Amino acid sequence: MSLDLPFDNSYGRLPERFYTRLGPTPVSKPGLVAINAPLAERLGLDTANLTSPDGIAVLAGNSVPGGADPLAQVYAGHQFGNFVPQLGDGRALLLGEVVAPDGVRFDIQLKGSGPTPYSRMGDGRAWLGPVMREYLVSEAMAALGIPTTRALAAVTTGETVVREGAMPGAVLTRIATSHIRVGTFQFFAARDDRDALEALVAHALERHYPGRTTALELLEGVIERQARLIASWMGVGFVHGVMNTDNMTISGETIDYGPCAFLDSYHPMRVFSSIDHAGRYAYGRQPDVAMWDLAQLAISLLPLIGNTEQAQTALDRFPELFRSAWSGVFRAKLGLATAEDGDDELARDLLDRMADGQADFTNTFRALGTPAARDEFLDPTAYDDWEAAWNARLLSEGVTSVDRAARIAAANPAVIPRTHRIEQAIQAGVAGDFGPFTRLHKALSTPYEIARENLDLTRAPLADEIVPRTFCGT
Ligand code: AMP
Ligand code: MG
Repeated sequence: MSLDLPFDNSYGRLPERFYTRLGPTPVSKPGLVAINAPLAERLGLDTANLTSPDGIAVLAGNSVPGGADPLAQVYAGHQFGNFVPQLGDGRALLLGEVVAPDGVRFDIQLKGSGPTPYSRMGDGRAWLGPVMREYLVSEAMAALGIPTTRALAAVTTGETVVREGAMPGAVLTRIATSHIRVGTFQFFAARDDRDALEALVAHALERHYPGRTTALELLEGVIERQARLIASWMGVGFVHGVMNTDNMTISGETIDYGPCAFLDSYHPMRVFSSIDHAGRYAYGRQPDVAMWDLAQLAISLLPLIGNTEQAQTALDRFPELFRSAWSGVFRAKLGLATAEDGDDELARDLLDRMADGQADFTNTFRALGTPAARDEFLDPTAYDDWEAAWNARLLSEGVTSVDRAARIAAANPAVIPRTHRIEQAIQAGVAGDFGPFTRLHKALSTPYEIARENLDLTRAPLADEIVPRTFCGT
């Protein structure tokens, strides 16, 4: 019996130069690591089906379900500022699209499914570590309310993948409202392929910006969504780590959980990625980099927009859109209900003091108004001074301490996927114990509430637990 999924593959109806059609490469021994039952339900898929032997065969790439149209998408991209005219799904395949019961269309992608024409020197595979990391972090982002690709399932392949050593192979089933990237537009723009650009704009508008009809409106929409997205990253201390133009979506969803990390102690120039030597993608640089990436989208769309000034005007709105989204995020984090002049300065003053005081980003915000917050600072009086100004501001809107505590708890997560916890879960998983993974995943699914028995997951890493570098995991 083959698995029946309600596919409707709109990307495969685009011209053939948008992709290469091919199937996944089978693996020796599929084993289920995780299935995301709530997401399956949201997509209108049957979890029991997905976890049956037939379902697991699909998730591992050993069988292609009826109605699927597997293909590798082609794109280009600026990697660390250097333009690469052809990238593409080198270790992933779009299996097809399903339309959820509420009418929303989703891509189902297998990541780690074998080589494609875009694999370059790579093996087309993924190992268990990055698959577990993407599963944990993308699902944590979703629970935090941040637009993101999702993880439907993770399976092991029974094969080894050679990285730093021989690692267990794995496949992630990634869900996204689409995998169209800034780099997808760059691919066709670099080839002066106006027909393809027009088809891609129409496709992207229909999927993500219904009601809009022009390339300029698409650009404006992406700029708006990315401004909000980056502000929401800043609000949870997320460092994407590899904000290349092929890793920026048109949908406004976070994509590519490679060398990403959440801040432990706060510093605006914090970088984790082992390959980001210049700190191009440091925490505090993310808004500027997003603007740079969006400029590449604007350039790609210029042949269709036709008017450089209009494209420039759209782009010039980004800093203000970002600033206003950032203000909203940080005002909420400070427990403020209203907007007043000086709020941004109040938030920035706290952040400056946190950087000086090596305060933990997540735990400081969560503890605002309690003695635990001042204990986060090397010099607690730095917090006391700030707290006096904050209290005065809270008084101005008549917020009671009970209200304030509830607001703080609703806007500041208790638990985020800390790198050292992810690494511990991966190490256990590689040794065959998925208990820590399951526990971490569960705690991250309700990030604003923390059960007493999970308090250890909120703790900053001890000196010997710190993971200073993260890797793309390719
Ligand atoms: P990323 O760093 O994940 O954004 O990937 C950049 C490019 O390298 C994309 O075109 C990927 O498809 C490709 N790539 C990454 N890892 C592999 C791999 N193991 N095999 C083949 N291609 C890969
Ligand atoms: Mg990528």
